[in-house]
Amino acid sequence: MRLVRYGLEGHERPGALDAQGGLRDLSGLLADIDPQVLARGLPASLGAVDVERLPQVEGRPRLGAPLARPGKIVAIGLNYSDHAAEAGLPEPAEPVIFMKASSTLSGPYDDVPRPAGAEKMDWEVELGIVIGATCRSVSEDDALGHVFGYVAVNDLSDRAFQLERGGQWDKGKNFDRACPIGPWLVTADEIGDPQTLDIWLSVDGQRVQDSNTGRMIFGCRHLVSYVSRFMTLLPGDLITTGTPAGVGLGMQPPRYLRGGEVLELGISRLGSQKYAITR
Ligand code: ZN
Repeated sequence: MRLVRYGLEGHERPGALDAQGGLRDLSGLLADIDPQVLARGLPASLGAVDVERLPQVEGRPRLGAPLARPGKIVAIGLNYSDHAAEAGLPEPAEPVIFMKASSTLSGPYDDVPRPAGAEKMDWEVELGIVIGATCRSVSEDDALGHVFGYVAVNDLSDRAFQLERGGQWDKGKNFDRACPIGPWLVTADEIGDPQTLDIWLSVDGQRVQDSNTGRMIFGCRHLVSYVSRFMTLLPGDLITTGTPAGVGLGMQPPRYLRGGEVLELGISRLGSQKYAITR
């Protein structure tokens, strides 16, 4: 099922897309698409829902982030060898983990203001994994059975905050709207093998990232298992799995977002995002 949240920011309602791409209302069945609803067994209960019989939503309301208030966002760094190379860093022997705050979430068509003082704002299209069931030291064989679904993510950064201001990467990864997700949260049954998806991003119509999730160094199965050895993964947690080559940092000379650009990105079967960088 392709799940969405629609309506004004802060007042979104849960919905789903029907076979024709029409918007249907799920609010009669679910309060929201959030960790609480996922923990109460949403993955199982969705199986009984016939989307084609849900009420149709009139008009074309705004789509918000298709997941509300994740408890945590765990990001994987340097997970495509061509991106590690363009960043001038060795391919990691184990997954690199950093955290993004859930306050960074943004809708798939919402403009993103360049944060104050950000001179090196950059893009990273990534496949996001949404956890459906609690994982503690889950085995690789069982890992994907704990996944609720997948979502397209833009892991926005400011490279100066990330790399030139001391300490860890988190300073550059957590400004407001640094994590647009969506447009759809697609349940795992509709994706099948998550290592077969085309992934791309363009800036002002120029394709700069163009890869496939099959090129990850550490695949989704390994990442869910690996992260769950260091922290408990709870329903609604989001793991964003790293970006392929083609970010602004890797260009000669580097190309950073100044405000006024339009970003467009997408992943096979997960839809596409489009918005302007403002200021
Ligand atoms: Zn990233």
